[in-house]
Amino acid sequence: MSILELLRQHGEIARTSTLIQKGGTKRDIAATVAQGSVVRVMKGWVASRQADAEQLTAVRSGGRLGCISALARWGVWAADDRSPHIAMSQHGRRLSDVRMAGSTEAVMHPRAPVDTGTRPRLDRPCCFHWSQPAGTENDLDWIVRPFDAVKQAVYCQNLEHAVACVDSALHHGVLTAEEWATIATALPTTFDECVSLIDGRADSGLESRIRVRLQKLGHRVDVQVPVPGFGKLDLLVDDRVGLELDGDRFHSTADQRRRDLAKGLISLRFGIPIIRAGYVHAIDDWDLVYEALRRMLDLTALRVA
Ligand SMILES: [Zn+2]
Repeated sequence: MSILELLRQHGEIARTSTLIQKGGTKRDIAATVAQGSVVRVMKGWVASRQADAEQLTAVRSGGRLGCISALARWGVWAADDRSPHIAMSQHGRRLSDVRMAGSTEAVMHPRAPVDTGTRPRLDRPCCFHWSQPAGTENDLDWIVRPFDAVKQAVYCQNLEHAVACVDSALHHGVLTAEEWATIATALPTTFDECVSLIDGRADSGLESRIRVRLQKLGHRVDVQVPVPGFGKLDLLVDDRVGLELDGDRFHSTADQRRRDLAKGLISLRFGIPIIRAGYVHAIDDWDLVYEALRRMLDLTALRVA
């Protein structure tokens, strides 16, 4: 297998020792570097031209992509923060001048179940995590395993984002229920609320975030509620109003719009009105969405009284 093929299997960047362990030779690596299709990132590391800027920055800084940066490469919802989150080993040494040029298209983990078309996060200074144990627990050299990424995200992110990260990792099967149970059991009691809110049925990070908001406001919220004969409601609030949340990248085709309209009509036949909000409404104009929801809850409460 060529060095370029080996690198592709390892996510476009790897230690030379890893490539040699997997069948490459020092001579092949040197020849590929001489051809210009592979570059030496730093001592003991090589990367293809497809390696992206955030990967290169993590490796050059002496760490691996961790926390939400690692989750993004697994196709998991991973917060809005545009900082690279880098896991450093306790014995690691952070190098200065770590910003590296590289591809602006993020390399996904080769086994990611979903390709979200994410892009490298380098708009803000690096966020370093110093808890990653050194060792051989990571299957690739440049990224921590999902178990460690989720654990880091729970400590790093606020409640809404942390729950959404865990929900998404469970939903996509990147983290197993047993792994989450192991993480949750070891968390301090200050994380009890976070643990109680986890729900892997959530279909999107936005859905998880809004569910957490509503539950903290005292509402009863069910997720992914079947509409007989027509799919599922994202959220059902206080057993009587549906809330559909449209991420920007979805619901854009004419067919999807027809399905959404039909779902609204069919849901009303069961006495459940639906409020529909886009990402910009739910995140940037939450007060408007919540006032509309409260009003609809008031109206339906009067009607059934
Ligand atoms: Zn973090």
